[in-house]
Amino acid sequence: VSSAATERGLDVVVVGAGIIGLAVAWRAAARGLTVAVVDPAPAQGASHVAAGMLAPVSEAHWGEEGLVPLMLDSAARWPAFAAELEAATGHAVDFAPSGTLVVGVDAGDVAVVDDLAQLHAGLGLEAARLRSRDCRDQEPLLAPGVRGGMLVPHDHRVDPRAVTAALQEALARAGVPVLAQEVLGLVRDRGRVTGVEVAAVGGALRSTARASRAAGTATISAATVVVAAGPATGALLGADGRAAPVRPVKGQLLVLRVRDEALALRRPVRGWAHGTPVYLVPRADGRVVVGATQEEQGFDTTVTAGAVHDLLRDASALVPSVLEHEVLEALAGLRPAAPDNAPVLGAVPGADGLVVATGHHRHGVLLAPATAEAVADVACGGALPAVAEPFAPDPGRWT
Ligand SMILES: Cc1cc2nc3c(=O)[nH]c(=O)nc-3n(C[C@H](O)[C@H](O)[C@H](O)COP(=O)(O)OP(=O)(O)OC[C@H]3O[C@@H](n4cnc5c(N)ncnc54)[C@H](O)[C@@H]3O)c2cc1C
Repeated sequence: VSSAATERGLDVVVVGAGIIGLAVAWRAAARGLTVAVVDPAPAQGASHVAAGMLAPVSEAHWGEEGLVPLMLDSAARWPAFAAELEAATGHAVDFAPSGTLVVGVDAGDVAVVDDLAQLHAGLGLEAARLRSRDCRDQEPLLAPGVRGGMLVPHDHRVDPRAVTAALQEALARAGVPVLAQEVLGLVRDRGRVTGVEVAAVGGALRSTARASRAAGTATISAATVVVAAGPATGALLGADGRAAPVRPVKGQLLVLRVRDEALALRRPVRGWAHGTPVYLVPRADGRVVVGATQEEQGFDTTVTAGAVHDLLRDASALVPSVLEHEVLEALAGLRPAAPDNAPVLGAVPGADGLVVATGHHRHGVLLAPATAEAVADVACGGALPAVAEPFAPDPGRWT
């Protein structure tokens, strides 16, 4: 942060250092804006838990077709985003253009795959139907009982923890501070949001912060405040919370380690096991992620025995050898979801200076590159790109 910038306040302060806030900060800094990020626990929210599927096709669902253009736009950005991030930091992010295998165990499960294939065909999305034997040619570790499926050639994967680590490194190299503080509230001046309130400020940001002794807090001023605080976003917006009424959707997931090379999957495998969706996502370092539940439980991140049982039961119905792996972690994350389960991106109407980037629900990793560019456009004074326009914060969306 240059000294001139700190004297007049920053161009952008980003609230939340999940994959969304970090990516927004990185792209905004790349545009030449002065940026800071504030988060008491950087990269420990949903982005720490995410499986890392980049799946615009296998995640296209009936009723959510409106999201497909943004998902495809962001998927197309991933190869360059990963390459630029790796080049800027020297950190590998395990982006693998692997394709994804989608399978069904029983006749009902294959009917679900058929249904999805019909949706894909209608939307012009590429996926190749496979018979049972073809599925096993693609992935020899599949259970003999798998009845059929499809290969989705352009659904890939990345390691979200490696991405957020690389983004933090990229920000450090670009001189963007990440302040380990909770934002207590937004600072407003006659209808305009002018900064954020924190308990205290140190380091590179000291000269930009105004201390308020009486309140025992400090203010970081910025021309634009981007709130990317996951499911905490709505509460932080206060009076403007109606623009982004996100809720937490709990997802439990297991991280396993493959002990025998011969039992490593070639690519992500997902599908339905007797009516329940489940996925297995391999990482380059031998870990494999098994997920995930979708639960409306409020702000609860308890890992339950039942979820661990069900995940292993369903994953092993697809790939029996998963039971040979070592258990490394069982964890839960909170997906930020809006009432229509679509993201909320851009300037909040009636609150100059306030921008939101949240509500990415099951797709925050996939949507990070497109979100970051769209929000950087807005922070530079531009409009949302056409592909992101349907996701502007508008209380009318929820009524
Ligand atoms: C089990 C599971 C599996 C998933 N798998 C995938 C997948 O395969 N592919 C995919 O694309 N997506 C996936 N997702 C979804 C993805 O994880 C989320 O959409 C994404 O991580 C959201 O990122 P975020 O930055 O908005 O939120 P988060 O990562 O939750 O970050 C929000 C940040 O805001 C901070 N914050 C909150 N309040 C404050 C405050 N007052 N002041 C400062 N900071 C604050 C928090 O500390 C946190 O670090 C999955 C999610 C889960 C739970």
